Amino acid sequence: MTRHHNFCAGPAALPTAVLERAQREMLDFRGRGLSVMEMSHRSPEYVAIAEKAEADLRELLAIPANYKVLFTQGGATQQFAAVPFNLLGPGGRASFVNTGIWSKKAIAEARHLFGDIHMAASSEANGHTAVPRPEEILLAKDTAYLHYTANETIGGLAFDYIPEAVRPDGSEAPLVCDLSSTILSAPLDVSRFGVIYAGAQKNIGPAGLVVVIVRDDLLDRARDDMPSLFGYQALAEAGSMINTPATYSWYLAGLVFEWLKEDVGGLAAMEAINARKAAKLYAAIDESDFYANPIAVANRSRMNVPFVLADDRLDKAFLAEAEQAGLLNLQGHRSVGGMRASLYNAVPEAAVDALVDFMSDFEKRRG
Ligand SMILES: *Cc1c(COP(=O)(O)O)cnc(C)c1O
Repeated sequence: MTRHHNFCAGPAALPTAVLERAQREMLDFRGRGLSVMEMSHRSPEYVAIAEKAEADLRELLAIPANYKVLFTQGGATQQFAAVPFNLLGPGGRASFVNTGIWSKKAIAEARHLFGDIHMAASSEANGHTAVPRPEEILLAKDTAYLHYTANETIGGLAFDYIPEAVRPDGSEAPLVCDLSSTILSAPLDVSRFGVIYAGAQKNIGPAGLVVVIVRDDLLDRARDDMPSLFGYQALAEAGSMINTPATYSWYLAGLVFEWLKEDVGGLAAMEAINARKAAKLYAAIDESDFYANPIAVANRSRMNVPFVLADDRLDKAFLAEAEQAGLLNLQGHRSVGGMRASLYNAVPEAAVDALVDFMSDFEKRRG
């Protein structure tokens, strides 16, 4: 059996140790005589799995006690709708920062559902190559919350700071963050946020699960016309089990959290590894005239590294030869082309070394 190096943007690589453990536990989960997939979500065995996953996530991110953690479904995209349904009280408007394709999708959904929204800042003018500066983010006075995307997975553009969500009168609005492609890649001050959400298939586990972290005082603002499955309060009261949750994805997420705690040694250790991985790849790009990345250095994503070749007629050969060398899923998003290497937590440093070697070799032969 060979496991290749997988740079997929999502669903992304999972730690081999996690998959091996899931394999060992697949047919007979810890002597119970059945697999996790076949268990009632209400059984004591499964409830213990679910609670352990939440406890480990709380420990990893040091989530304060006044936050609820929800394990729900529909991906990050469903949260584009669920957030306004939960937070937009009567007369309030959502403020958004637009830094690229994922923020635009969140904006489009809020507009589609609730019409008027406020654009607090945008990096459109610089082609989404640098995030707005803190003083450029201007909230409307009726702002119910400020939404931003910490890391644009397609553009490879990441915030290097947590924005302040302050209305013109000086009052603070809840800050909402789509953290799908950076959650658990580094320590985070959760207390700065009102709501954090993240689709699982990047740094948490298999697709089918989305994690929402919501501050208690925001649970009473939901609209009456909301689909009941969207409701943060209802999900919190039901332990995320209003209906059948994505049980297997939740279990796998729990194994990933254990791996982060026990094998990696926590998020500070993870951050150091991620910083090294990204530094190696950006150095290889910057030291060559053959590869290029347009993002301002301070806003370069450590998770998603897009790059182009000086001659795009070589793109096809690059991808084909990379695949032959066991380097998978390096094609850029279909909307932007070029290349993209996603370096999520489960992508080992050895994969980055192999990629950098391949890039150097390809340039020598074809550059
Ligand atoms: C992948 C991604 C999404 C979409 O996630 P789904 O689970 O497919 O809905 C949204 N936002 C960001 C930043 C992402 O990386």
